[in-house]
Amino acid sequence: GRDYSNVTTTNDSNDSDRLLGGLLATGFDEATCLSRYQSSLYRKPSPYKPSPYLLSKLRSYETLHKRCGPGTEPYKKALTQLDQDHIDNNGECKYVVWVSFSGLGNRILSLASVFLYALLTDRVLLVDRGKDMEDLFCEPFPDMSWLLPLDFPLMSQFDGLNQDSSRCYGHMLKNHVVDNDKTLSHLYLHLVHDYGDHDKMFFCQGDQTFIGKVPWLVVKTDNYFVPSLWLIPGFDEELDKLFPQKETVFHHLGRYLFHPTNQVWGLVTRYYEAYLSQADEKIGIQVRVFDVGAGPFQHVMDQISSCTRKEKLLPEVDTVIERSHRLKTPRKHKAVLVTSLNSGYSENLKSMYWEYPTLTGEIIGVHQPSQEGYQQTEKKMHNGKALAEMYLLSMTDSLVTSAWSTFGYVAQGLGGLKPWILYKPENRTAPDPACGRAMSMEPCFHAPPFYDCKARTGIDTGKLVPHVRHCEDMSWGLKLV
Ligand code: GDP
Repeated sequence: GRDYSNVTTTNDSNDSDRLLGGLLATGFDEATCLSRYQSSLYRKPSPYKPSPYLLSKLRSYETLHKRCGPGTEPYKKALTQLDQDHIDNNGECKYVVWVSFSGLGNRILSLASVFLYALLTDRVLLVDRGKDMEDLFCEPFPDMSWLLPLDFPLMSQFDGLNQDSSRCYGHMLKNHVVDNDKTLSHLYLHLVHDYGDHDKMFFCQGDQTFIGKVPWLVVKTDNYFVPSLWLIPGFDEELDKLFPQKETVFHHLGRYLFHPTNQVWGLVTRYYEAYLSQADEKIGIQVRVFDVGAGPFQHVMDQISSCTRKEKLLPEVDTVIERSHRLKTPRKHKAVLVTSLNSGYSENLKSMYWEYPTLTGEIIGVHQPSQEGYQQTEKKMHNGKALAEMYLLSMTDSLVTSAWSTFGYVAQGLGGLKPWILYKPENRTAPDPACGRAMSMEPCFHAPPFYDCKARTGIDTGKLVPHVRHCEDMSWGLKLV
């Protein structure tokens, strides 16, 4: 096991680990956010190194953020632009405001997407704190908050923003009120999964030229839209430079941005040290069931067994008990971390490995941190636990995830793990095969546009370039590989 006692000491040899290969800036106060510099102690060093270009981009973003962030002169100046419909001269700083919306997994993925968009367009990212963003995440940028000030003038409108809002870009296009000769002071970008063809014009280069001049963008999205940014000429070259290894976008940005607060970090580390740190191998199983009705479901249980057996992630048991009394040494200890809203799946596994010996002689411990029953949006610790569980899953050696779940995407991305995906059951039947290995550790964009901006016709955007493909778990989704 590792020695966690002197985690605050620094020395040069482990600095690169500690700073995640240079991803993290130095100089933060460690005590206010222990996870920032401690997370490297709980994970193997990532085999994926951030590019020097990404590192320099992040450092210059940090400088921009500090210069333009809340309370600065440029920020105050930019705010005054909001009083006008159109602006006459460009200010010093432009902004993109991420509106807190949807489940936690979705929020983490959409926020990473909007941050990448900010990097590509030299905007400052500001985060609507919603109900719990502040309780969940530390500040990621040095010396300047990423939180949108509570007195931001448009804040009271956030909840009501939708496809029909008068400043919604898609709505304006649809109604032919976009005037290319004038620059609007602000625009709302509706990039929620239910968005329409006009909203999707966001992903066209020509529209980016117009949008690019607007000093204030407000974005509501529940999607990981990064794969489609790669299909915009004008962004693709920069993206290639930032991420020469294309499947590492969320891996790096996620580790850069999302540091659990001390309270959530306590949930992570206490659990890890109590149940996972001693094991020779750690297996994560993330069970997310989208069927209606109370689980556990037999078909999901069957699917988990079939997948873990076939992929040799977990050993089979010997049901002829008398045979296996002899002691085999040394005995490997595998810890299985199950996350689910329902306790049934892990209880089932746990009983099986208690009642019968394994054929391999391995010792299997099954652990599930929480069983919240159902998705809750208002309760504070509910999402704290959800975040802690995503983090714990990301610390495992092998990961099994559920199709369609952003919760699983976050875990695999943070961990740098290519998961085995439990394919989505149809008609309450386990699919065959039960699971398959992911092509890459990237999240899937669930609602991509299928439009050729130049030819102005529909097109299969999953077939344009080799590195943007349809997802394993959702045939119409797009992911980077
Ligand atoms: P998705 O719906 O699977 O894409 O993931 P989201 O994170 O966006 O939304 C699901 C929400 O349900 C989470 O934010 C949690 O609040 C809750 N949830 C789902 N699965 C789990 C789980 O395994 N553990 C915990 N603690 N919460 C879960």
